[in-house]
Amino acid sequence: MKERTSTSAVLDAMDEETKYLTPIFGSEASDAQMPRTQMNDEPVEPRIAYEMIKEYLSIEGNATQNLTTFCQTYMEPMATRIMSEVMEKNAIDKDEYPMTADLENRCVAMIADLWHADPDEEPMGTSTVGSSEACMLGGLGMLFRWKKLAKDAGVDIYTSQRPNLVISSGYQVCWEKFCRYWDIEMRLVPLEKDHLSLNMDTVMDYVDDHTIGITAILGITYTGKYDDVKKLDELVEAYNQEHPKLPIRIHVDGASGSMVAPFVDPDLEWDFRLKNVWSINTSGHKYGLVYPGIGWVIWRGKEALPEDLIFWVSYLGGEEATMAINFSRSASQIVGQYYVLMRNGFEGFREIHLRTLDVARYLAEELKGMGIFDIYEDASNIPIVCWGLKDDANVEWSLYDLSDRLRMSGWLVPAYPMPANLQDVVVQRVVARQDFSMQLAIKLVEDVKKEIDTLSKARFVTGNTQGVINTGFNHGGRSAVDKGDEVQTQAKTAQK
Ligand SMILES: *Cc1c(COP(=O)(O)O)cnc(C)c1O
Repeated sequence: MKERTSTSAVLDAMDEETKYLTPIFGSEASDAQMPRTQMNDEPVEPRIAYEMIKEYLSIEGNATQNLTTFCQTYMEPMATRIMSEVMEKNAIDKDEYPMTADLENRCVAMIADLWHADPDEEPMGTSTVGSSEACMLGGLGMLFRWKKLAKDAGVDIYTSQRPNLVISSGYQVCWEKFCRYWDIEMRLVPLEKDHLSLNMDTVMDYVDDHTIGITAILGITYTGKYDDVKKLDELVEAYNQEHPKLPIRIHVDGASGSMVAPFVDPDLEWDFRLKNVWSINTSGHKYGLVYPGIGWVIWRGKEALPEDLIFWVSYLGGEEATMAINFSRSASQIVGQYYVLMRNGFEGFREIHLRTLDVARYLAEELKGMGIFDIYEDASNIPIVCWGLKDDANVEWSLYDLSDRLRMSGWLVPAYPMPANLQDVVVQRVVARQDFSMQLAIKLVEDVKKEIDTLSKARFVTGNTQGVINTGFNHGGRSAVDKGDEVQTQAKTAQK
């Protein structure tokens, strides 16, 4: 066995007062190694452990300047206070914590209402850890429904072709996981330069008797564009008229957009107002304004949610339906979601999102004005700005170089290739969030101009054309499903 690091041996030698008065970074204990592969034998004083860990983490970057992620990097003090005060409650213990369970049910009801679910259809839903779990559940709902319908319709579901899911190639990696885990063929409708969202001219060509459903994306991760769910619903409705035994339904992956559109674009029809939209998910921790991790999935009614997905747990002497995959987790995020819904109200959400959109649109305008960028997304839907270098930009550096340079001022603005069929197009993206203020946007624009100037004057360009830069913020990690697939690997930077 390796020799373990002992910190308290040092402390034992001191008297109590010395121990207490010793400055933290002057203490011998703070010289001790932070355990790496093996626990220390002895305990460490809490304030020393606290400072050492905090210091260690402090150098990885500033969350506000992380313009890579959709995930919230700000909550107000009263929100974090209530969240930290309920951390010990286990959200799954509905019988023990019925008031917490009640708040979760209220969140489901409020979100279902935002998405225009009809109470008469008895919408159901649940909180999840994030959209990944929510998409998994939405996908399983489609799979189980299809199995039953296909069997009844006499389709051979076991020996002929595998079931398939139709989705655009701009999907988030959770759908690849869903398809891999459940042995489902992923039918990708390619994104193209003039179709940067689900292609309505071709999508129905991908559908057959083995299609479990179509996933529409409200806020494609790469570009922020919305799929045209209303048009899709019309196409699906026409198909369903011809195929009454095996109708197709739509799941909307609204990880980002489902908590933006209802507030800033209330007339846009993408939700349960459309007949064939049967389930929707969102990430509470994206534009739902809560720290990670919380997500939501809602089915439009009883008929949309297969019985096989429901488990019953005891609750207030009766039974309560649960459908989440995870069992135990803290109630903090659920309470946090309830807090922001209550605290902001509809108007508050709208104001926050409109202001964030303003900032993103300012950034888009400024980038456009620089003359060398094609703006692929100018925050027309969600507060995302996405741009590429013009073909005739006539510069010797790449967006990867610009991304590298911006890191020197602390900005994390990723550059990455677009998905399959469009890999040649390299883009850079900024996700604006509520804590990205106009002041910061102005500073970012100044820094972009400065770095472009530096790069243009440089005699030797760094020549980073490899794409992925691993950072402390790269919480996408290397997904289990992208091994050996270069496009996916490079694209993972976008999979936030
Ligand atoms: C972020 C995202 C996901 C995954 O969401 P998590 O909440 O991070 O699990 C799924 N789909 C889309 C479109 C996303 O943007």
